[in-house]
Amino acid sequence: MEFSGESVLVTGANRGIGRAIALLLAGYSHKGGQRLKVWINYRNRHEEADALKVEIEKLGGRVALIKFDVTSEEQFVEGIKTIVASDGGLSYLVNNAGIVLDKLAVRMKTEEFRHVLETNLTSVFVGCREALKVMSKQRFGSVVNIASVIAERGNMGQTNYAASKGGMVAMSKSFAYEGALRNVRFNCITPGFIDTDMTALGEDVKESYLKNIPLARLGQPAEVAGAVAFLLSDLSSYITGETLKVNGGLYM
Ligand code: NDP
Repeated sequence: MEFSGESVLVTGANRGIGRAIALLLAGYSHKGGQRLKVWINYRNRHEEADALKVEIEKLGGRVALIKFDVTSEEQFVEGIKTIVASDGGLSYLVNNAGIVLDKLAVRMKTEEFRHVLETNLTSVFVGCREALKVMSKQRFGSVVNIASVIAERGNMGQTNYAASKGGMVAMSKSFAYEGALRNVRFNCITPGFIDTDMTALGEDVKESYLKNIPLARLGQPAEVAGAVAFLLSDLSSYITGETLKVNGGLYM
């Protein structure tokens, strides 16, 4: 896979899917010959982020840590400014950080609904907007937003999460229109059930999920990372406003 750009920011990259994305991207080179530089965002688990940095460095990758909470607009904006000041630009952004706060709607407080929207959707708006400013000037960039199969099919106990991820898919298409004029692409991935802390389920619950997955297993974080790499890379240069399912056939 070829990458015309040089640097990528992955939010929430200290563990789970974000970690796998950072690790995979760090192995690729951009057209200039050097490895892609990966900025690992984390909010407070410094040890995890630093361990990933060390792992990538051992593999010969270029990596830096950038600490901010995506729900803080000020911190997110500053984070991107720091990267641009260091590298002279930002080629790619992966909005991966996200949370769940599951409850049946009748028991969900409005504050719990808002909290998930703030974390999963408003932060992605801020990230996309700031990236678009930088990437428009460069006349180059690619952004991948990690949504969810729940955006496509909804789920019991996830009205807040479904709203945030469904909003992300629709918003990304609107960003795709605005970015297209400046050669900046925006795409989404909708993972199914991926084996991370977020889906630490009891065996009985897991069994019931597996019945509905044609590939009959949970996905691995690296399998989402592969799709992210494709959507960032030059291989997908004519793809924008798309939503790519990575769900083992759970929702077709
Ligand atoms: P994890 O819970 O394993 O990891 C979530 C990551 O997001 C952590 O690094 C976490 O940081 C970070 N994060 C959360 N809130 C913030 C914040 N305010 N600021 C900065 N970082 C934050 O989840 P996954 O890896 O499973 O999920 C990654 C993404 O993929 C999420 O957007 C999720 O919705 C989506 N997804 C996951 C699926 C799955 O089955 N696992 C399926 C579909 C979509 P910290 O360690 O500090 O908490």
